[in-house]
Amino acid sequence: MADHDVVVIGAGFAGLYQLYALRELGFDTKVLEAAPDVGGTWYHNRYPGARCDIESIEYSYSFDPELEQEWDWSERYAAQPEILAYVRHVADRHDLRRDIEFDTRVTALDFDDTANEWTVTTDDGARRTARFVVAATGCLSVPLHPRFEGEDEFTGATYRTWNWPHDGVDLTGKRVAVIGTGSSGLQTITAIAPDVAALTVFQRTPPYAVPARNRTITDELAAVKAHYPEFRELSRLSRGGAQCAGDEPPFFDDLAADDASAELGRRWLDGGLCYQQTFRDLLQDPVANELAAEYVRTRIRETVHDPEVAEKLTPRSYPIAAKRMCVDTGYYEVYNRDNVALVDLTEDPIRRITARGVVAGETEHEVDVIVFATGFDAMTGALEAIDVRNGDRTLRAKWADGPRTYLGLMSAGFPNLFTVTGPQSPSVLSNMMTSIEYHVEWIASALAHVRERGFARIEADVDAEDNWVNTTNDTADLTLFPNAASWYMGANVPGKKRVFLPFVAGVGTYKQICDGVAVSHYHGFEFA
Ligand code: FAD
Ligand code: NAP
Repeated sequence: MADHDVVVIGAGFAGLYQLYALRELGFDTKVLEAAPDVGGTWYHNRYPGARCDIESIEYSYSFDPELEQEWDWSERYAAQPEILAYVRHVADRHDLRRDIEFDTRVTALDFDDTANEWTVTTDDGARRTARFVVAATGCLSVPLHPRFEGEDEFTGATYRTWNWPHDGVDLTGKRVAVIGTGSSGLQTITAIAPDVAALTVFQRTPPYAVPARNRTITDELAAVKAHYPEFRELSRLSRGGAQCAGDEPPFFDDLAADDASAELGRRWLDGGLCYQQTFRDLLQDPVANELAAEYVRTRIRETVHDPEVAEKLTPRSYPIAAKRMCVDTGYYEVYNRDNVALVDLTEDPIRRITARGVVAGETEHEVDVIVFATGFDAMTGALEAIDVRNGDRTLRAKWADGPRTYLGLMSAGFPNLFTVTGPQSPSVLSNMMTSIEYHVEWIASALAHVRERGFARIEADVDAEDNWVNTTNDTADLTLFPNAASWYMGANVPGKKRVFLPFVAGVGTYKQICDGVAVSHYHGFEFA
């Protein structure tokens, strides 16, 4: 008899809801979490300026209608402390902590093919068994820290966006370097620029950033609360798991040239990631994509006073939205400040770090503080950090040439192991809350099905998996996504196979497929 029906790994948004959902169904469930508290992403990433880039009205749980009505988001895009307070509130409200073991990292998962149960090993050496395991380990939870020569010689302070000190850092009057200009870097740079004595930004690839147009949302929130269930249903059926001004975007070719530009202008003024949905085929049609990209480039030139700096900030080497776009609040304006300098690493690569600062090209930039905002081993990193085995088979070996899953939910050869927002599901291309809730509910229903039928195991069928892998790769190849060296492609991790990781055809389509699989007696899954 296993110690638990289910072990869930991770107590972020996904793990917490998985615990709630399984508890509701009467499964004995234990959550193991490496961190000392709940929150996942929002526990770890406390850098200045950290906030969501999906609107809070959408980036929140829908499973608890009373919570939906009671909780008031203060801003269109809530800041990290507010989101963490929300996660904690949910954990307390549903008394979730009693089934969570904190400071406990899962290091290995070993499947017993005869007993049909997993042995879960943790970093304290303890082992426990579970009939099922749900990996809610996060898509952006394994930080990437490229090692720069001489880093240990630096006599100043170093900080990393993904584990910023909980008491904050006073950067007033300091000379600060920020390495990395993805979403974390952008938010940090914008927040600290007014306070520091000097800020030097080390940029390898310029991002495309759209304005957030953040604001308080008292009236908007009240309007949505009046029909939250219908609102959520539309999000679940949408492409990105969140709605864009409630309309279906037009195909680029259906618009006259002036109308296309006007649409871009309208989206730009609305602000946020809906910009990338201006045209339904923005990531398929290179002409549409270039128009949308050029629109942003023009805004950069308009905003940044120094033409040379503006040019360095202008992305040209990849299609817009093929790397994750950034949502900013005054990012480009930062470069009009006298205390901010930009180093273009394509011209002057970082050669080393010294006791005094960062050497890029021939110049030593003297600083007191270095902030690393260098990203994550996305989507597969957390799962592959665990030694997952079934006899001689290991997940790491199986995924060496890229992940292989059925629906992003299971991987053949590893029965009774589910992933929430795993590779080859929409996950990071969507409002993660929509995708998390969908997976959690699908997994809970599948486990109830297994229990009702008296089965001991559920496993992805190899042919179904092969088909799904081909489908996800083929659909990605129809888009412009592979034309960018992005973390969606694994391109940011040295040695990682370049394979497009998420499912590209949208949340609504994906839901229809997975709903269909479930009602057709879990077609493509084997039970025993
Ligand atoms: P996580 O929040 O990553 O939680 C996973 C948990 O698993 C962590 O607590 C981790 O410690 C734990 N864990 C991992 N491995 C192990 C192990 N082996 N043993 C034990 N515990 C383990 N998405 C959006 O949709 N909108 C946004 O605005 C947005 N903003 C983001 C901002 C930042 C700074 C980052 C980094 C990501 C953002 N994301 C956003 C993506 C975000 O990760 C998801 O929205 C969501 O928070 C993921 O929740 P999760 O529970 O799946 O994973
Ligand atoms: P990221 O987008 O991967 O950005 C990492 C940055 O570091 C990039 O600019 C990268 O350059 C640079 N970099 C990496 N290695 C480097 C090296 N050796 N030398 C110089 N530069 C290097 O990571 P992130 O900013 O943490 O964001 C990851 C994802 O988390 C986002 O895309 C988003 O999904 C989510 N997120 C969201 C928000 C939000 O607004 N809500 C905030 C933070 C994060 P290259 O581009 O050249 O690789």
